[in-house]
Formats: sequence, C-alpha cells, structure tokens
Amino acid sequence: MDELHQRLTQMRQAFHQDPELGFDEHRTKAKVARHLRGLGLEVHDEGCGVIGLLRAGSGNRAIGLRADMDALPITEASSHGYVSQNPGVMHACGHDGHMTMLLGAAEKLAADPGFDGTVVFIFQPNEEHGLGAKAMIAEGVLERFPMEEVFAIHNLPGAPLGQVSTRPGLICSSESLFEITIHGQGGHASMPQVGVDAITVGAELVLALQTIVSRKLAPGAGAVVSVTEFLTDGQRNVLPGTATLKGDVRARAPEDREAVERFMRQIVQGVAATHGISADMTFNTEFIETINAPEPTAAVAATARGMDLDTISNRTPMSFSEDFAHFCAAVPGCFMLLGNGEEGPQGQPLHSDDYDFNDALLPIGSDLWAALVRNRLPA
Ligand SMILES: [Zn+2]
Ligand SMILES: [Zn+2]
Repeated sequence: MDELHQRLTQMRQAFHQDPELGFDEHRTKAKVARHLRGLGLEVHDEGCGVIGLLRAGSGNRAIGLRADMDALPITEASSHGYVSQNPGVMHACGHDGHMTMLLGAAEKLAADPGFDGTVVFIFQPNEEHGLGAKAMIAEGVLERFPMEEVFAIHNLPGAPLGQVSTRPGLICSSESLFEITIHGQGGHASMPQVGVDAITVGAELVLALQTIVSRKLAPGAGAVVSVTEFLTDGQRNVLPGTATLKGDVRARAPEDREAVERFMRQIVQGVAATHGISADMTFNTEFIETINAPEPTAAVAATARGMDLDTISNRTPMSFSEDFAHFCAAVPGCFMLLGNGEEGPQGQPLHSDDYDFNDALLPIGSDLWAALVRNRLPA
C-alpha cells in the first residue's frame, strides 16, 4: 500500500466513523471543503453541497464528477475498528468511499494535471431520498459551473473488485410513491347494504392495478406496481368508511411511468364510480430514470479498458434508483458501477447493516477518475 492509499484509507474510515443523514452532512461537508482547499482548488461550499474547481491549461471545456455524501438510518452490525460513532446512522451505501475516491482523484490531478480545461468536483448531499441533486440544480450549480458532461461512480458489492460496468440508455429505474384514499361509508358489519365498505373497494383496486403492467404495457417493459400498505379505519365489527392504499412504482422509461400513472388514475376513478363513492390519488416521482448518454458512456468503457480493468459496456439495468438521474437529465452523463468485491462485508448488499466499502477500491477508483478526465479533456 503506497502512502496515498494509506492516507485515503484513513480518510475513508474517518468518514465511515462519522456518518450523517441527508441534508445534515455538516461535518462531512466541512471535511470535504477543507481537503479540497488544502489541494489548492477553488471551493464553493455556500450551497447545500460542495463544489471544487480544478483548472489546467487554457481550454474552456469542463466536465463534472459527482460523489454523494449522505449515510442511512441503519445501526451498524460490524465490529471493525472504525464502526459508526453515531448510533443508528451508518455509511451502508459506500458514499464514504465515493467521496474518498473523488478526493483521491482531485489530489492526483492537482499534483499532475495532464488535462486541459476545468474539472468540476461535485459533492452532493441527500442522495438516498432523491433530493440532493435536485437541490443543487435548483441552487444553480449547472449555470454557475457549466459542464459539457457529468459522471458518477457507485460501488457494487457482489461484483469482482474493480470491475467497471455501465450501459448506454437506461441504467437505473425511476421510483414513484403513490397513495390512494377511498372515501366509502362506514357502518355496522351486520348491515353492509347501508354503507359502502371501503375494504372491498380497496381489494378490487389492488387487483385491478396489477393489470397495468400485465395488460397495458408492452411485454418486458420492466415496470413494477407494488401496493405495500392497506390501511383502514375498520374494527372487528365495524365496516371501514376509509381505506388508504400506499405503494411504489418502478419504471425503465419516462413514457411507461407516465402511462402507469394515467392508467392508475383511470382505474381509481372508475372503480370508485362503480361503487358510487369518490377516491383521491397522489403520485410523486422521487427518482426519475437515470439515462446514460452514448458518448460519455463509450468514453467510460474505453478508459476502463485502457486501464486493463475488467469492463462490461452493456450491463443489465439496475433495479435501484439514483438521483444522479437529475444531472443526467440536464447534461449528457454516465453513471457507472465499480465492483466492490464478492467476499465478506464488501460483498454484502448495499444498505445491509454488515456491508462495508472496500478500501482496496480507493486507488482503482481515483485512477479511473483521473484517466477519465485526461480522456475527456485531453491536454
Ligand atoms: Zn443507497
Ligand atoms: Zn448509494
């Protein structure tokens, strides 16, 4: 392990020990900003995230590299020497490692640029709730620091260490949360004819909603409609007057997401009308689809191959969602996965209480970032 790898490992483990939840990343932001200033970068940390600018040569082209800073409300189960010191909060998605790989790249590129233009280092808050990228964009980050392309790395436990995988087009699904409230008429369980039992109407809706993916979308569209909660105000001998259905929709194309919402509203209104009652529905898309642009994605694959990394340039899409989607919707971008290893805590699924980022990935990720910058902004 060389000196930089040692320092990056200490830095990653220090981030791991002090995790902070989305939009509460105050100490984390301060550490990132201090480190970037120490490397001589121009730093902007007045907004909700941290931006570092590194310029080389005379060119006016620019690209953005993004890392996320937030942790999760999970109690860490591991017993290594750098476990979370904040009870109930844990870096269980490896964002501690994402920040460290990007800070490592900033250090390498500051010491030995080999590129021409501006690298915009983006450290965003609150990825896990899908709010951080939107917040930075709303603050004007893309107007203040224009960039031609934008990139993000996410570690992937269960994949071989350092394996790079991505794909052009859709890489992460959208996630929308819905809530349907059925306004029936409650009453005595022995006299259903007097009221309108909200539970029967709700049951009809749960089944009808399942026909959207199977009968309304093309086979293989990859959308999912899941009703995950069914709440009523009924009692053992009281028919409920109100039922609330909550759930989650995933889609792999914006058109499918819009079609699912449209069909859901039709079904909700139609079933309610059949029973002579009303129903309301809310549908909030927390994460839009992450769509990789062809050119930056091809560049990622070429860069990884050039480094002799095991590279998959057309992997299957991920079922999880990513709020980097909002950057990709505004600027041509590429979201890539980097194998975190297959064994031990490094192979455990993201968001599990015994997961850990693999420190062996730190130099690989930093080198990949630096090589990508030199590829996209050639000197
Ligand atoms: Zn996560
Ligand atoms: Zn994550």
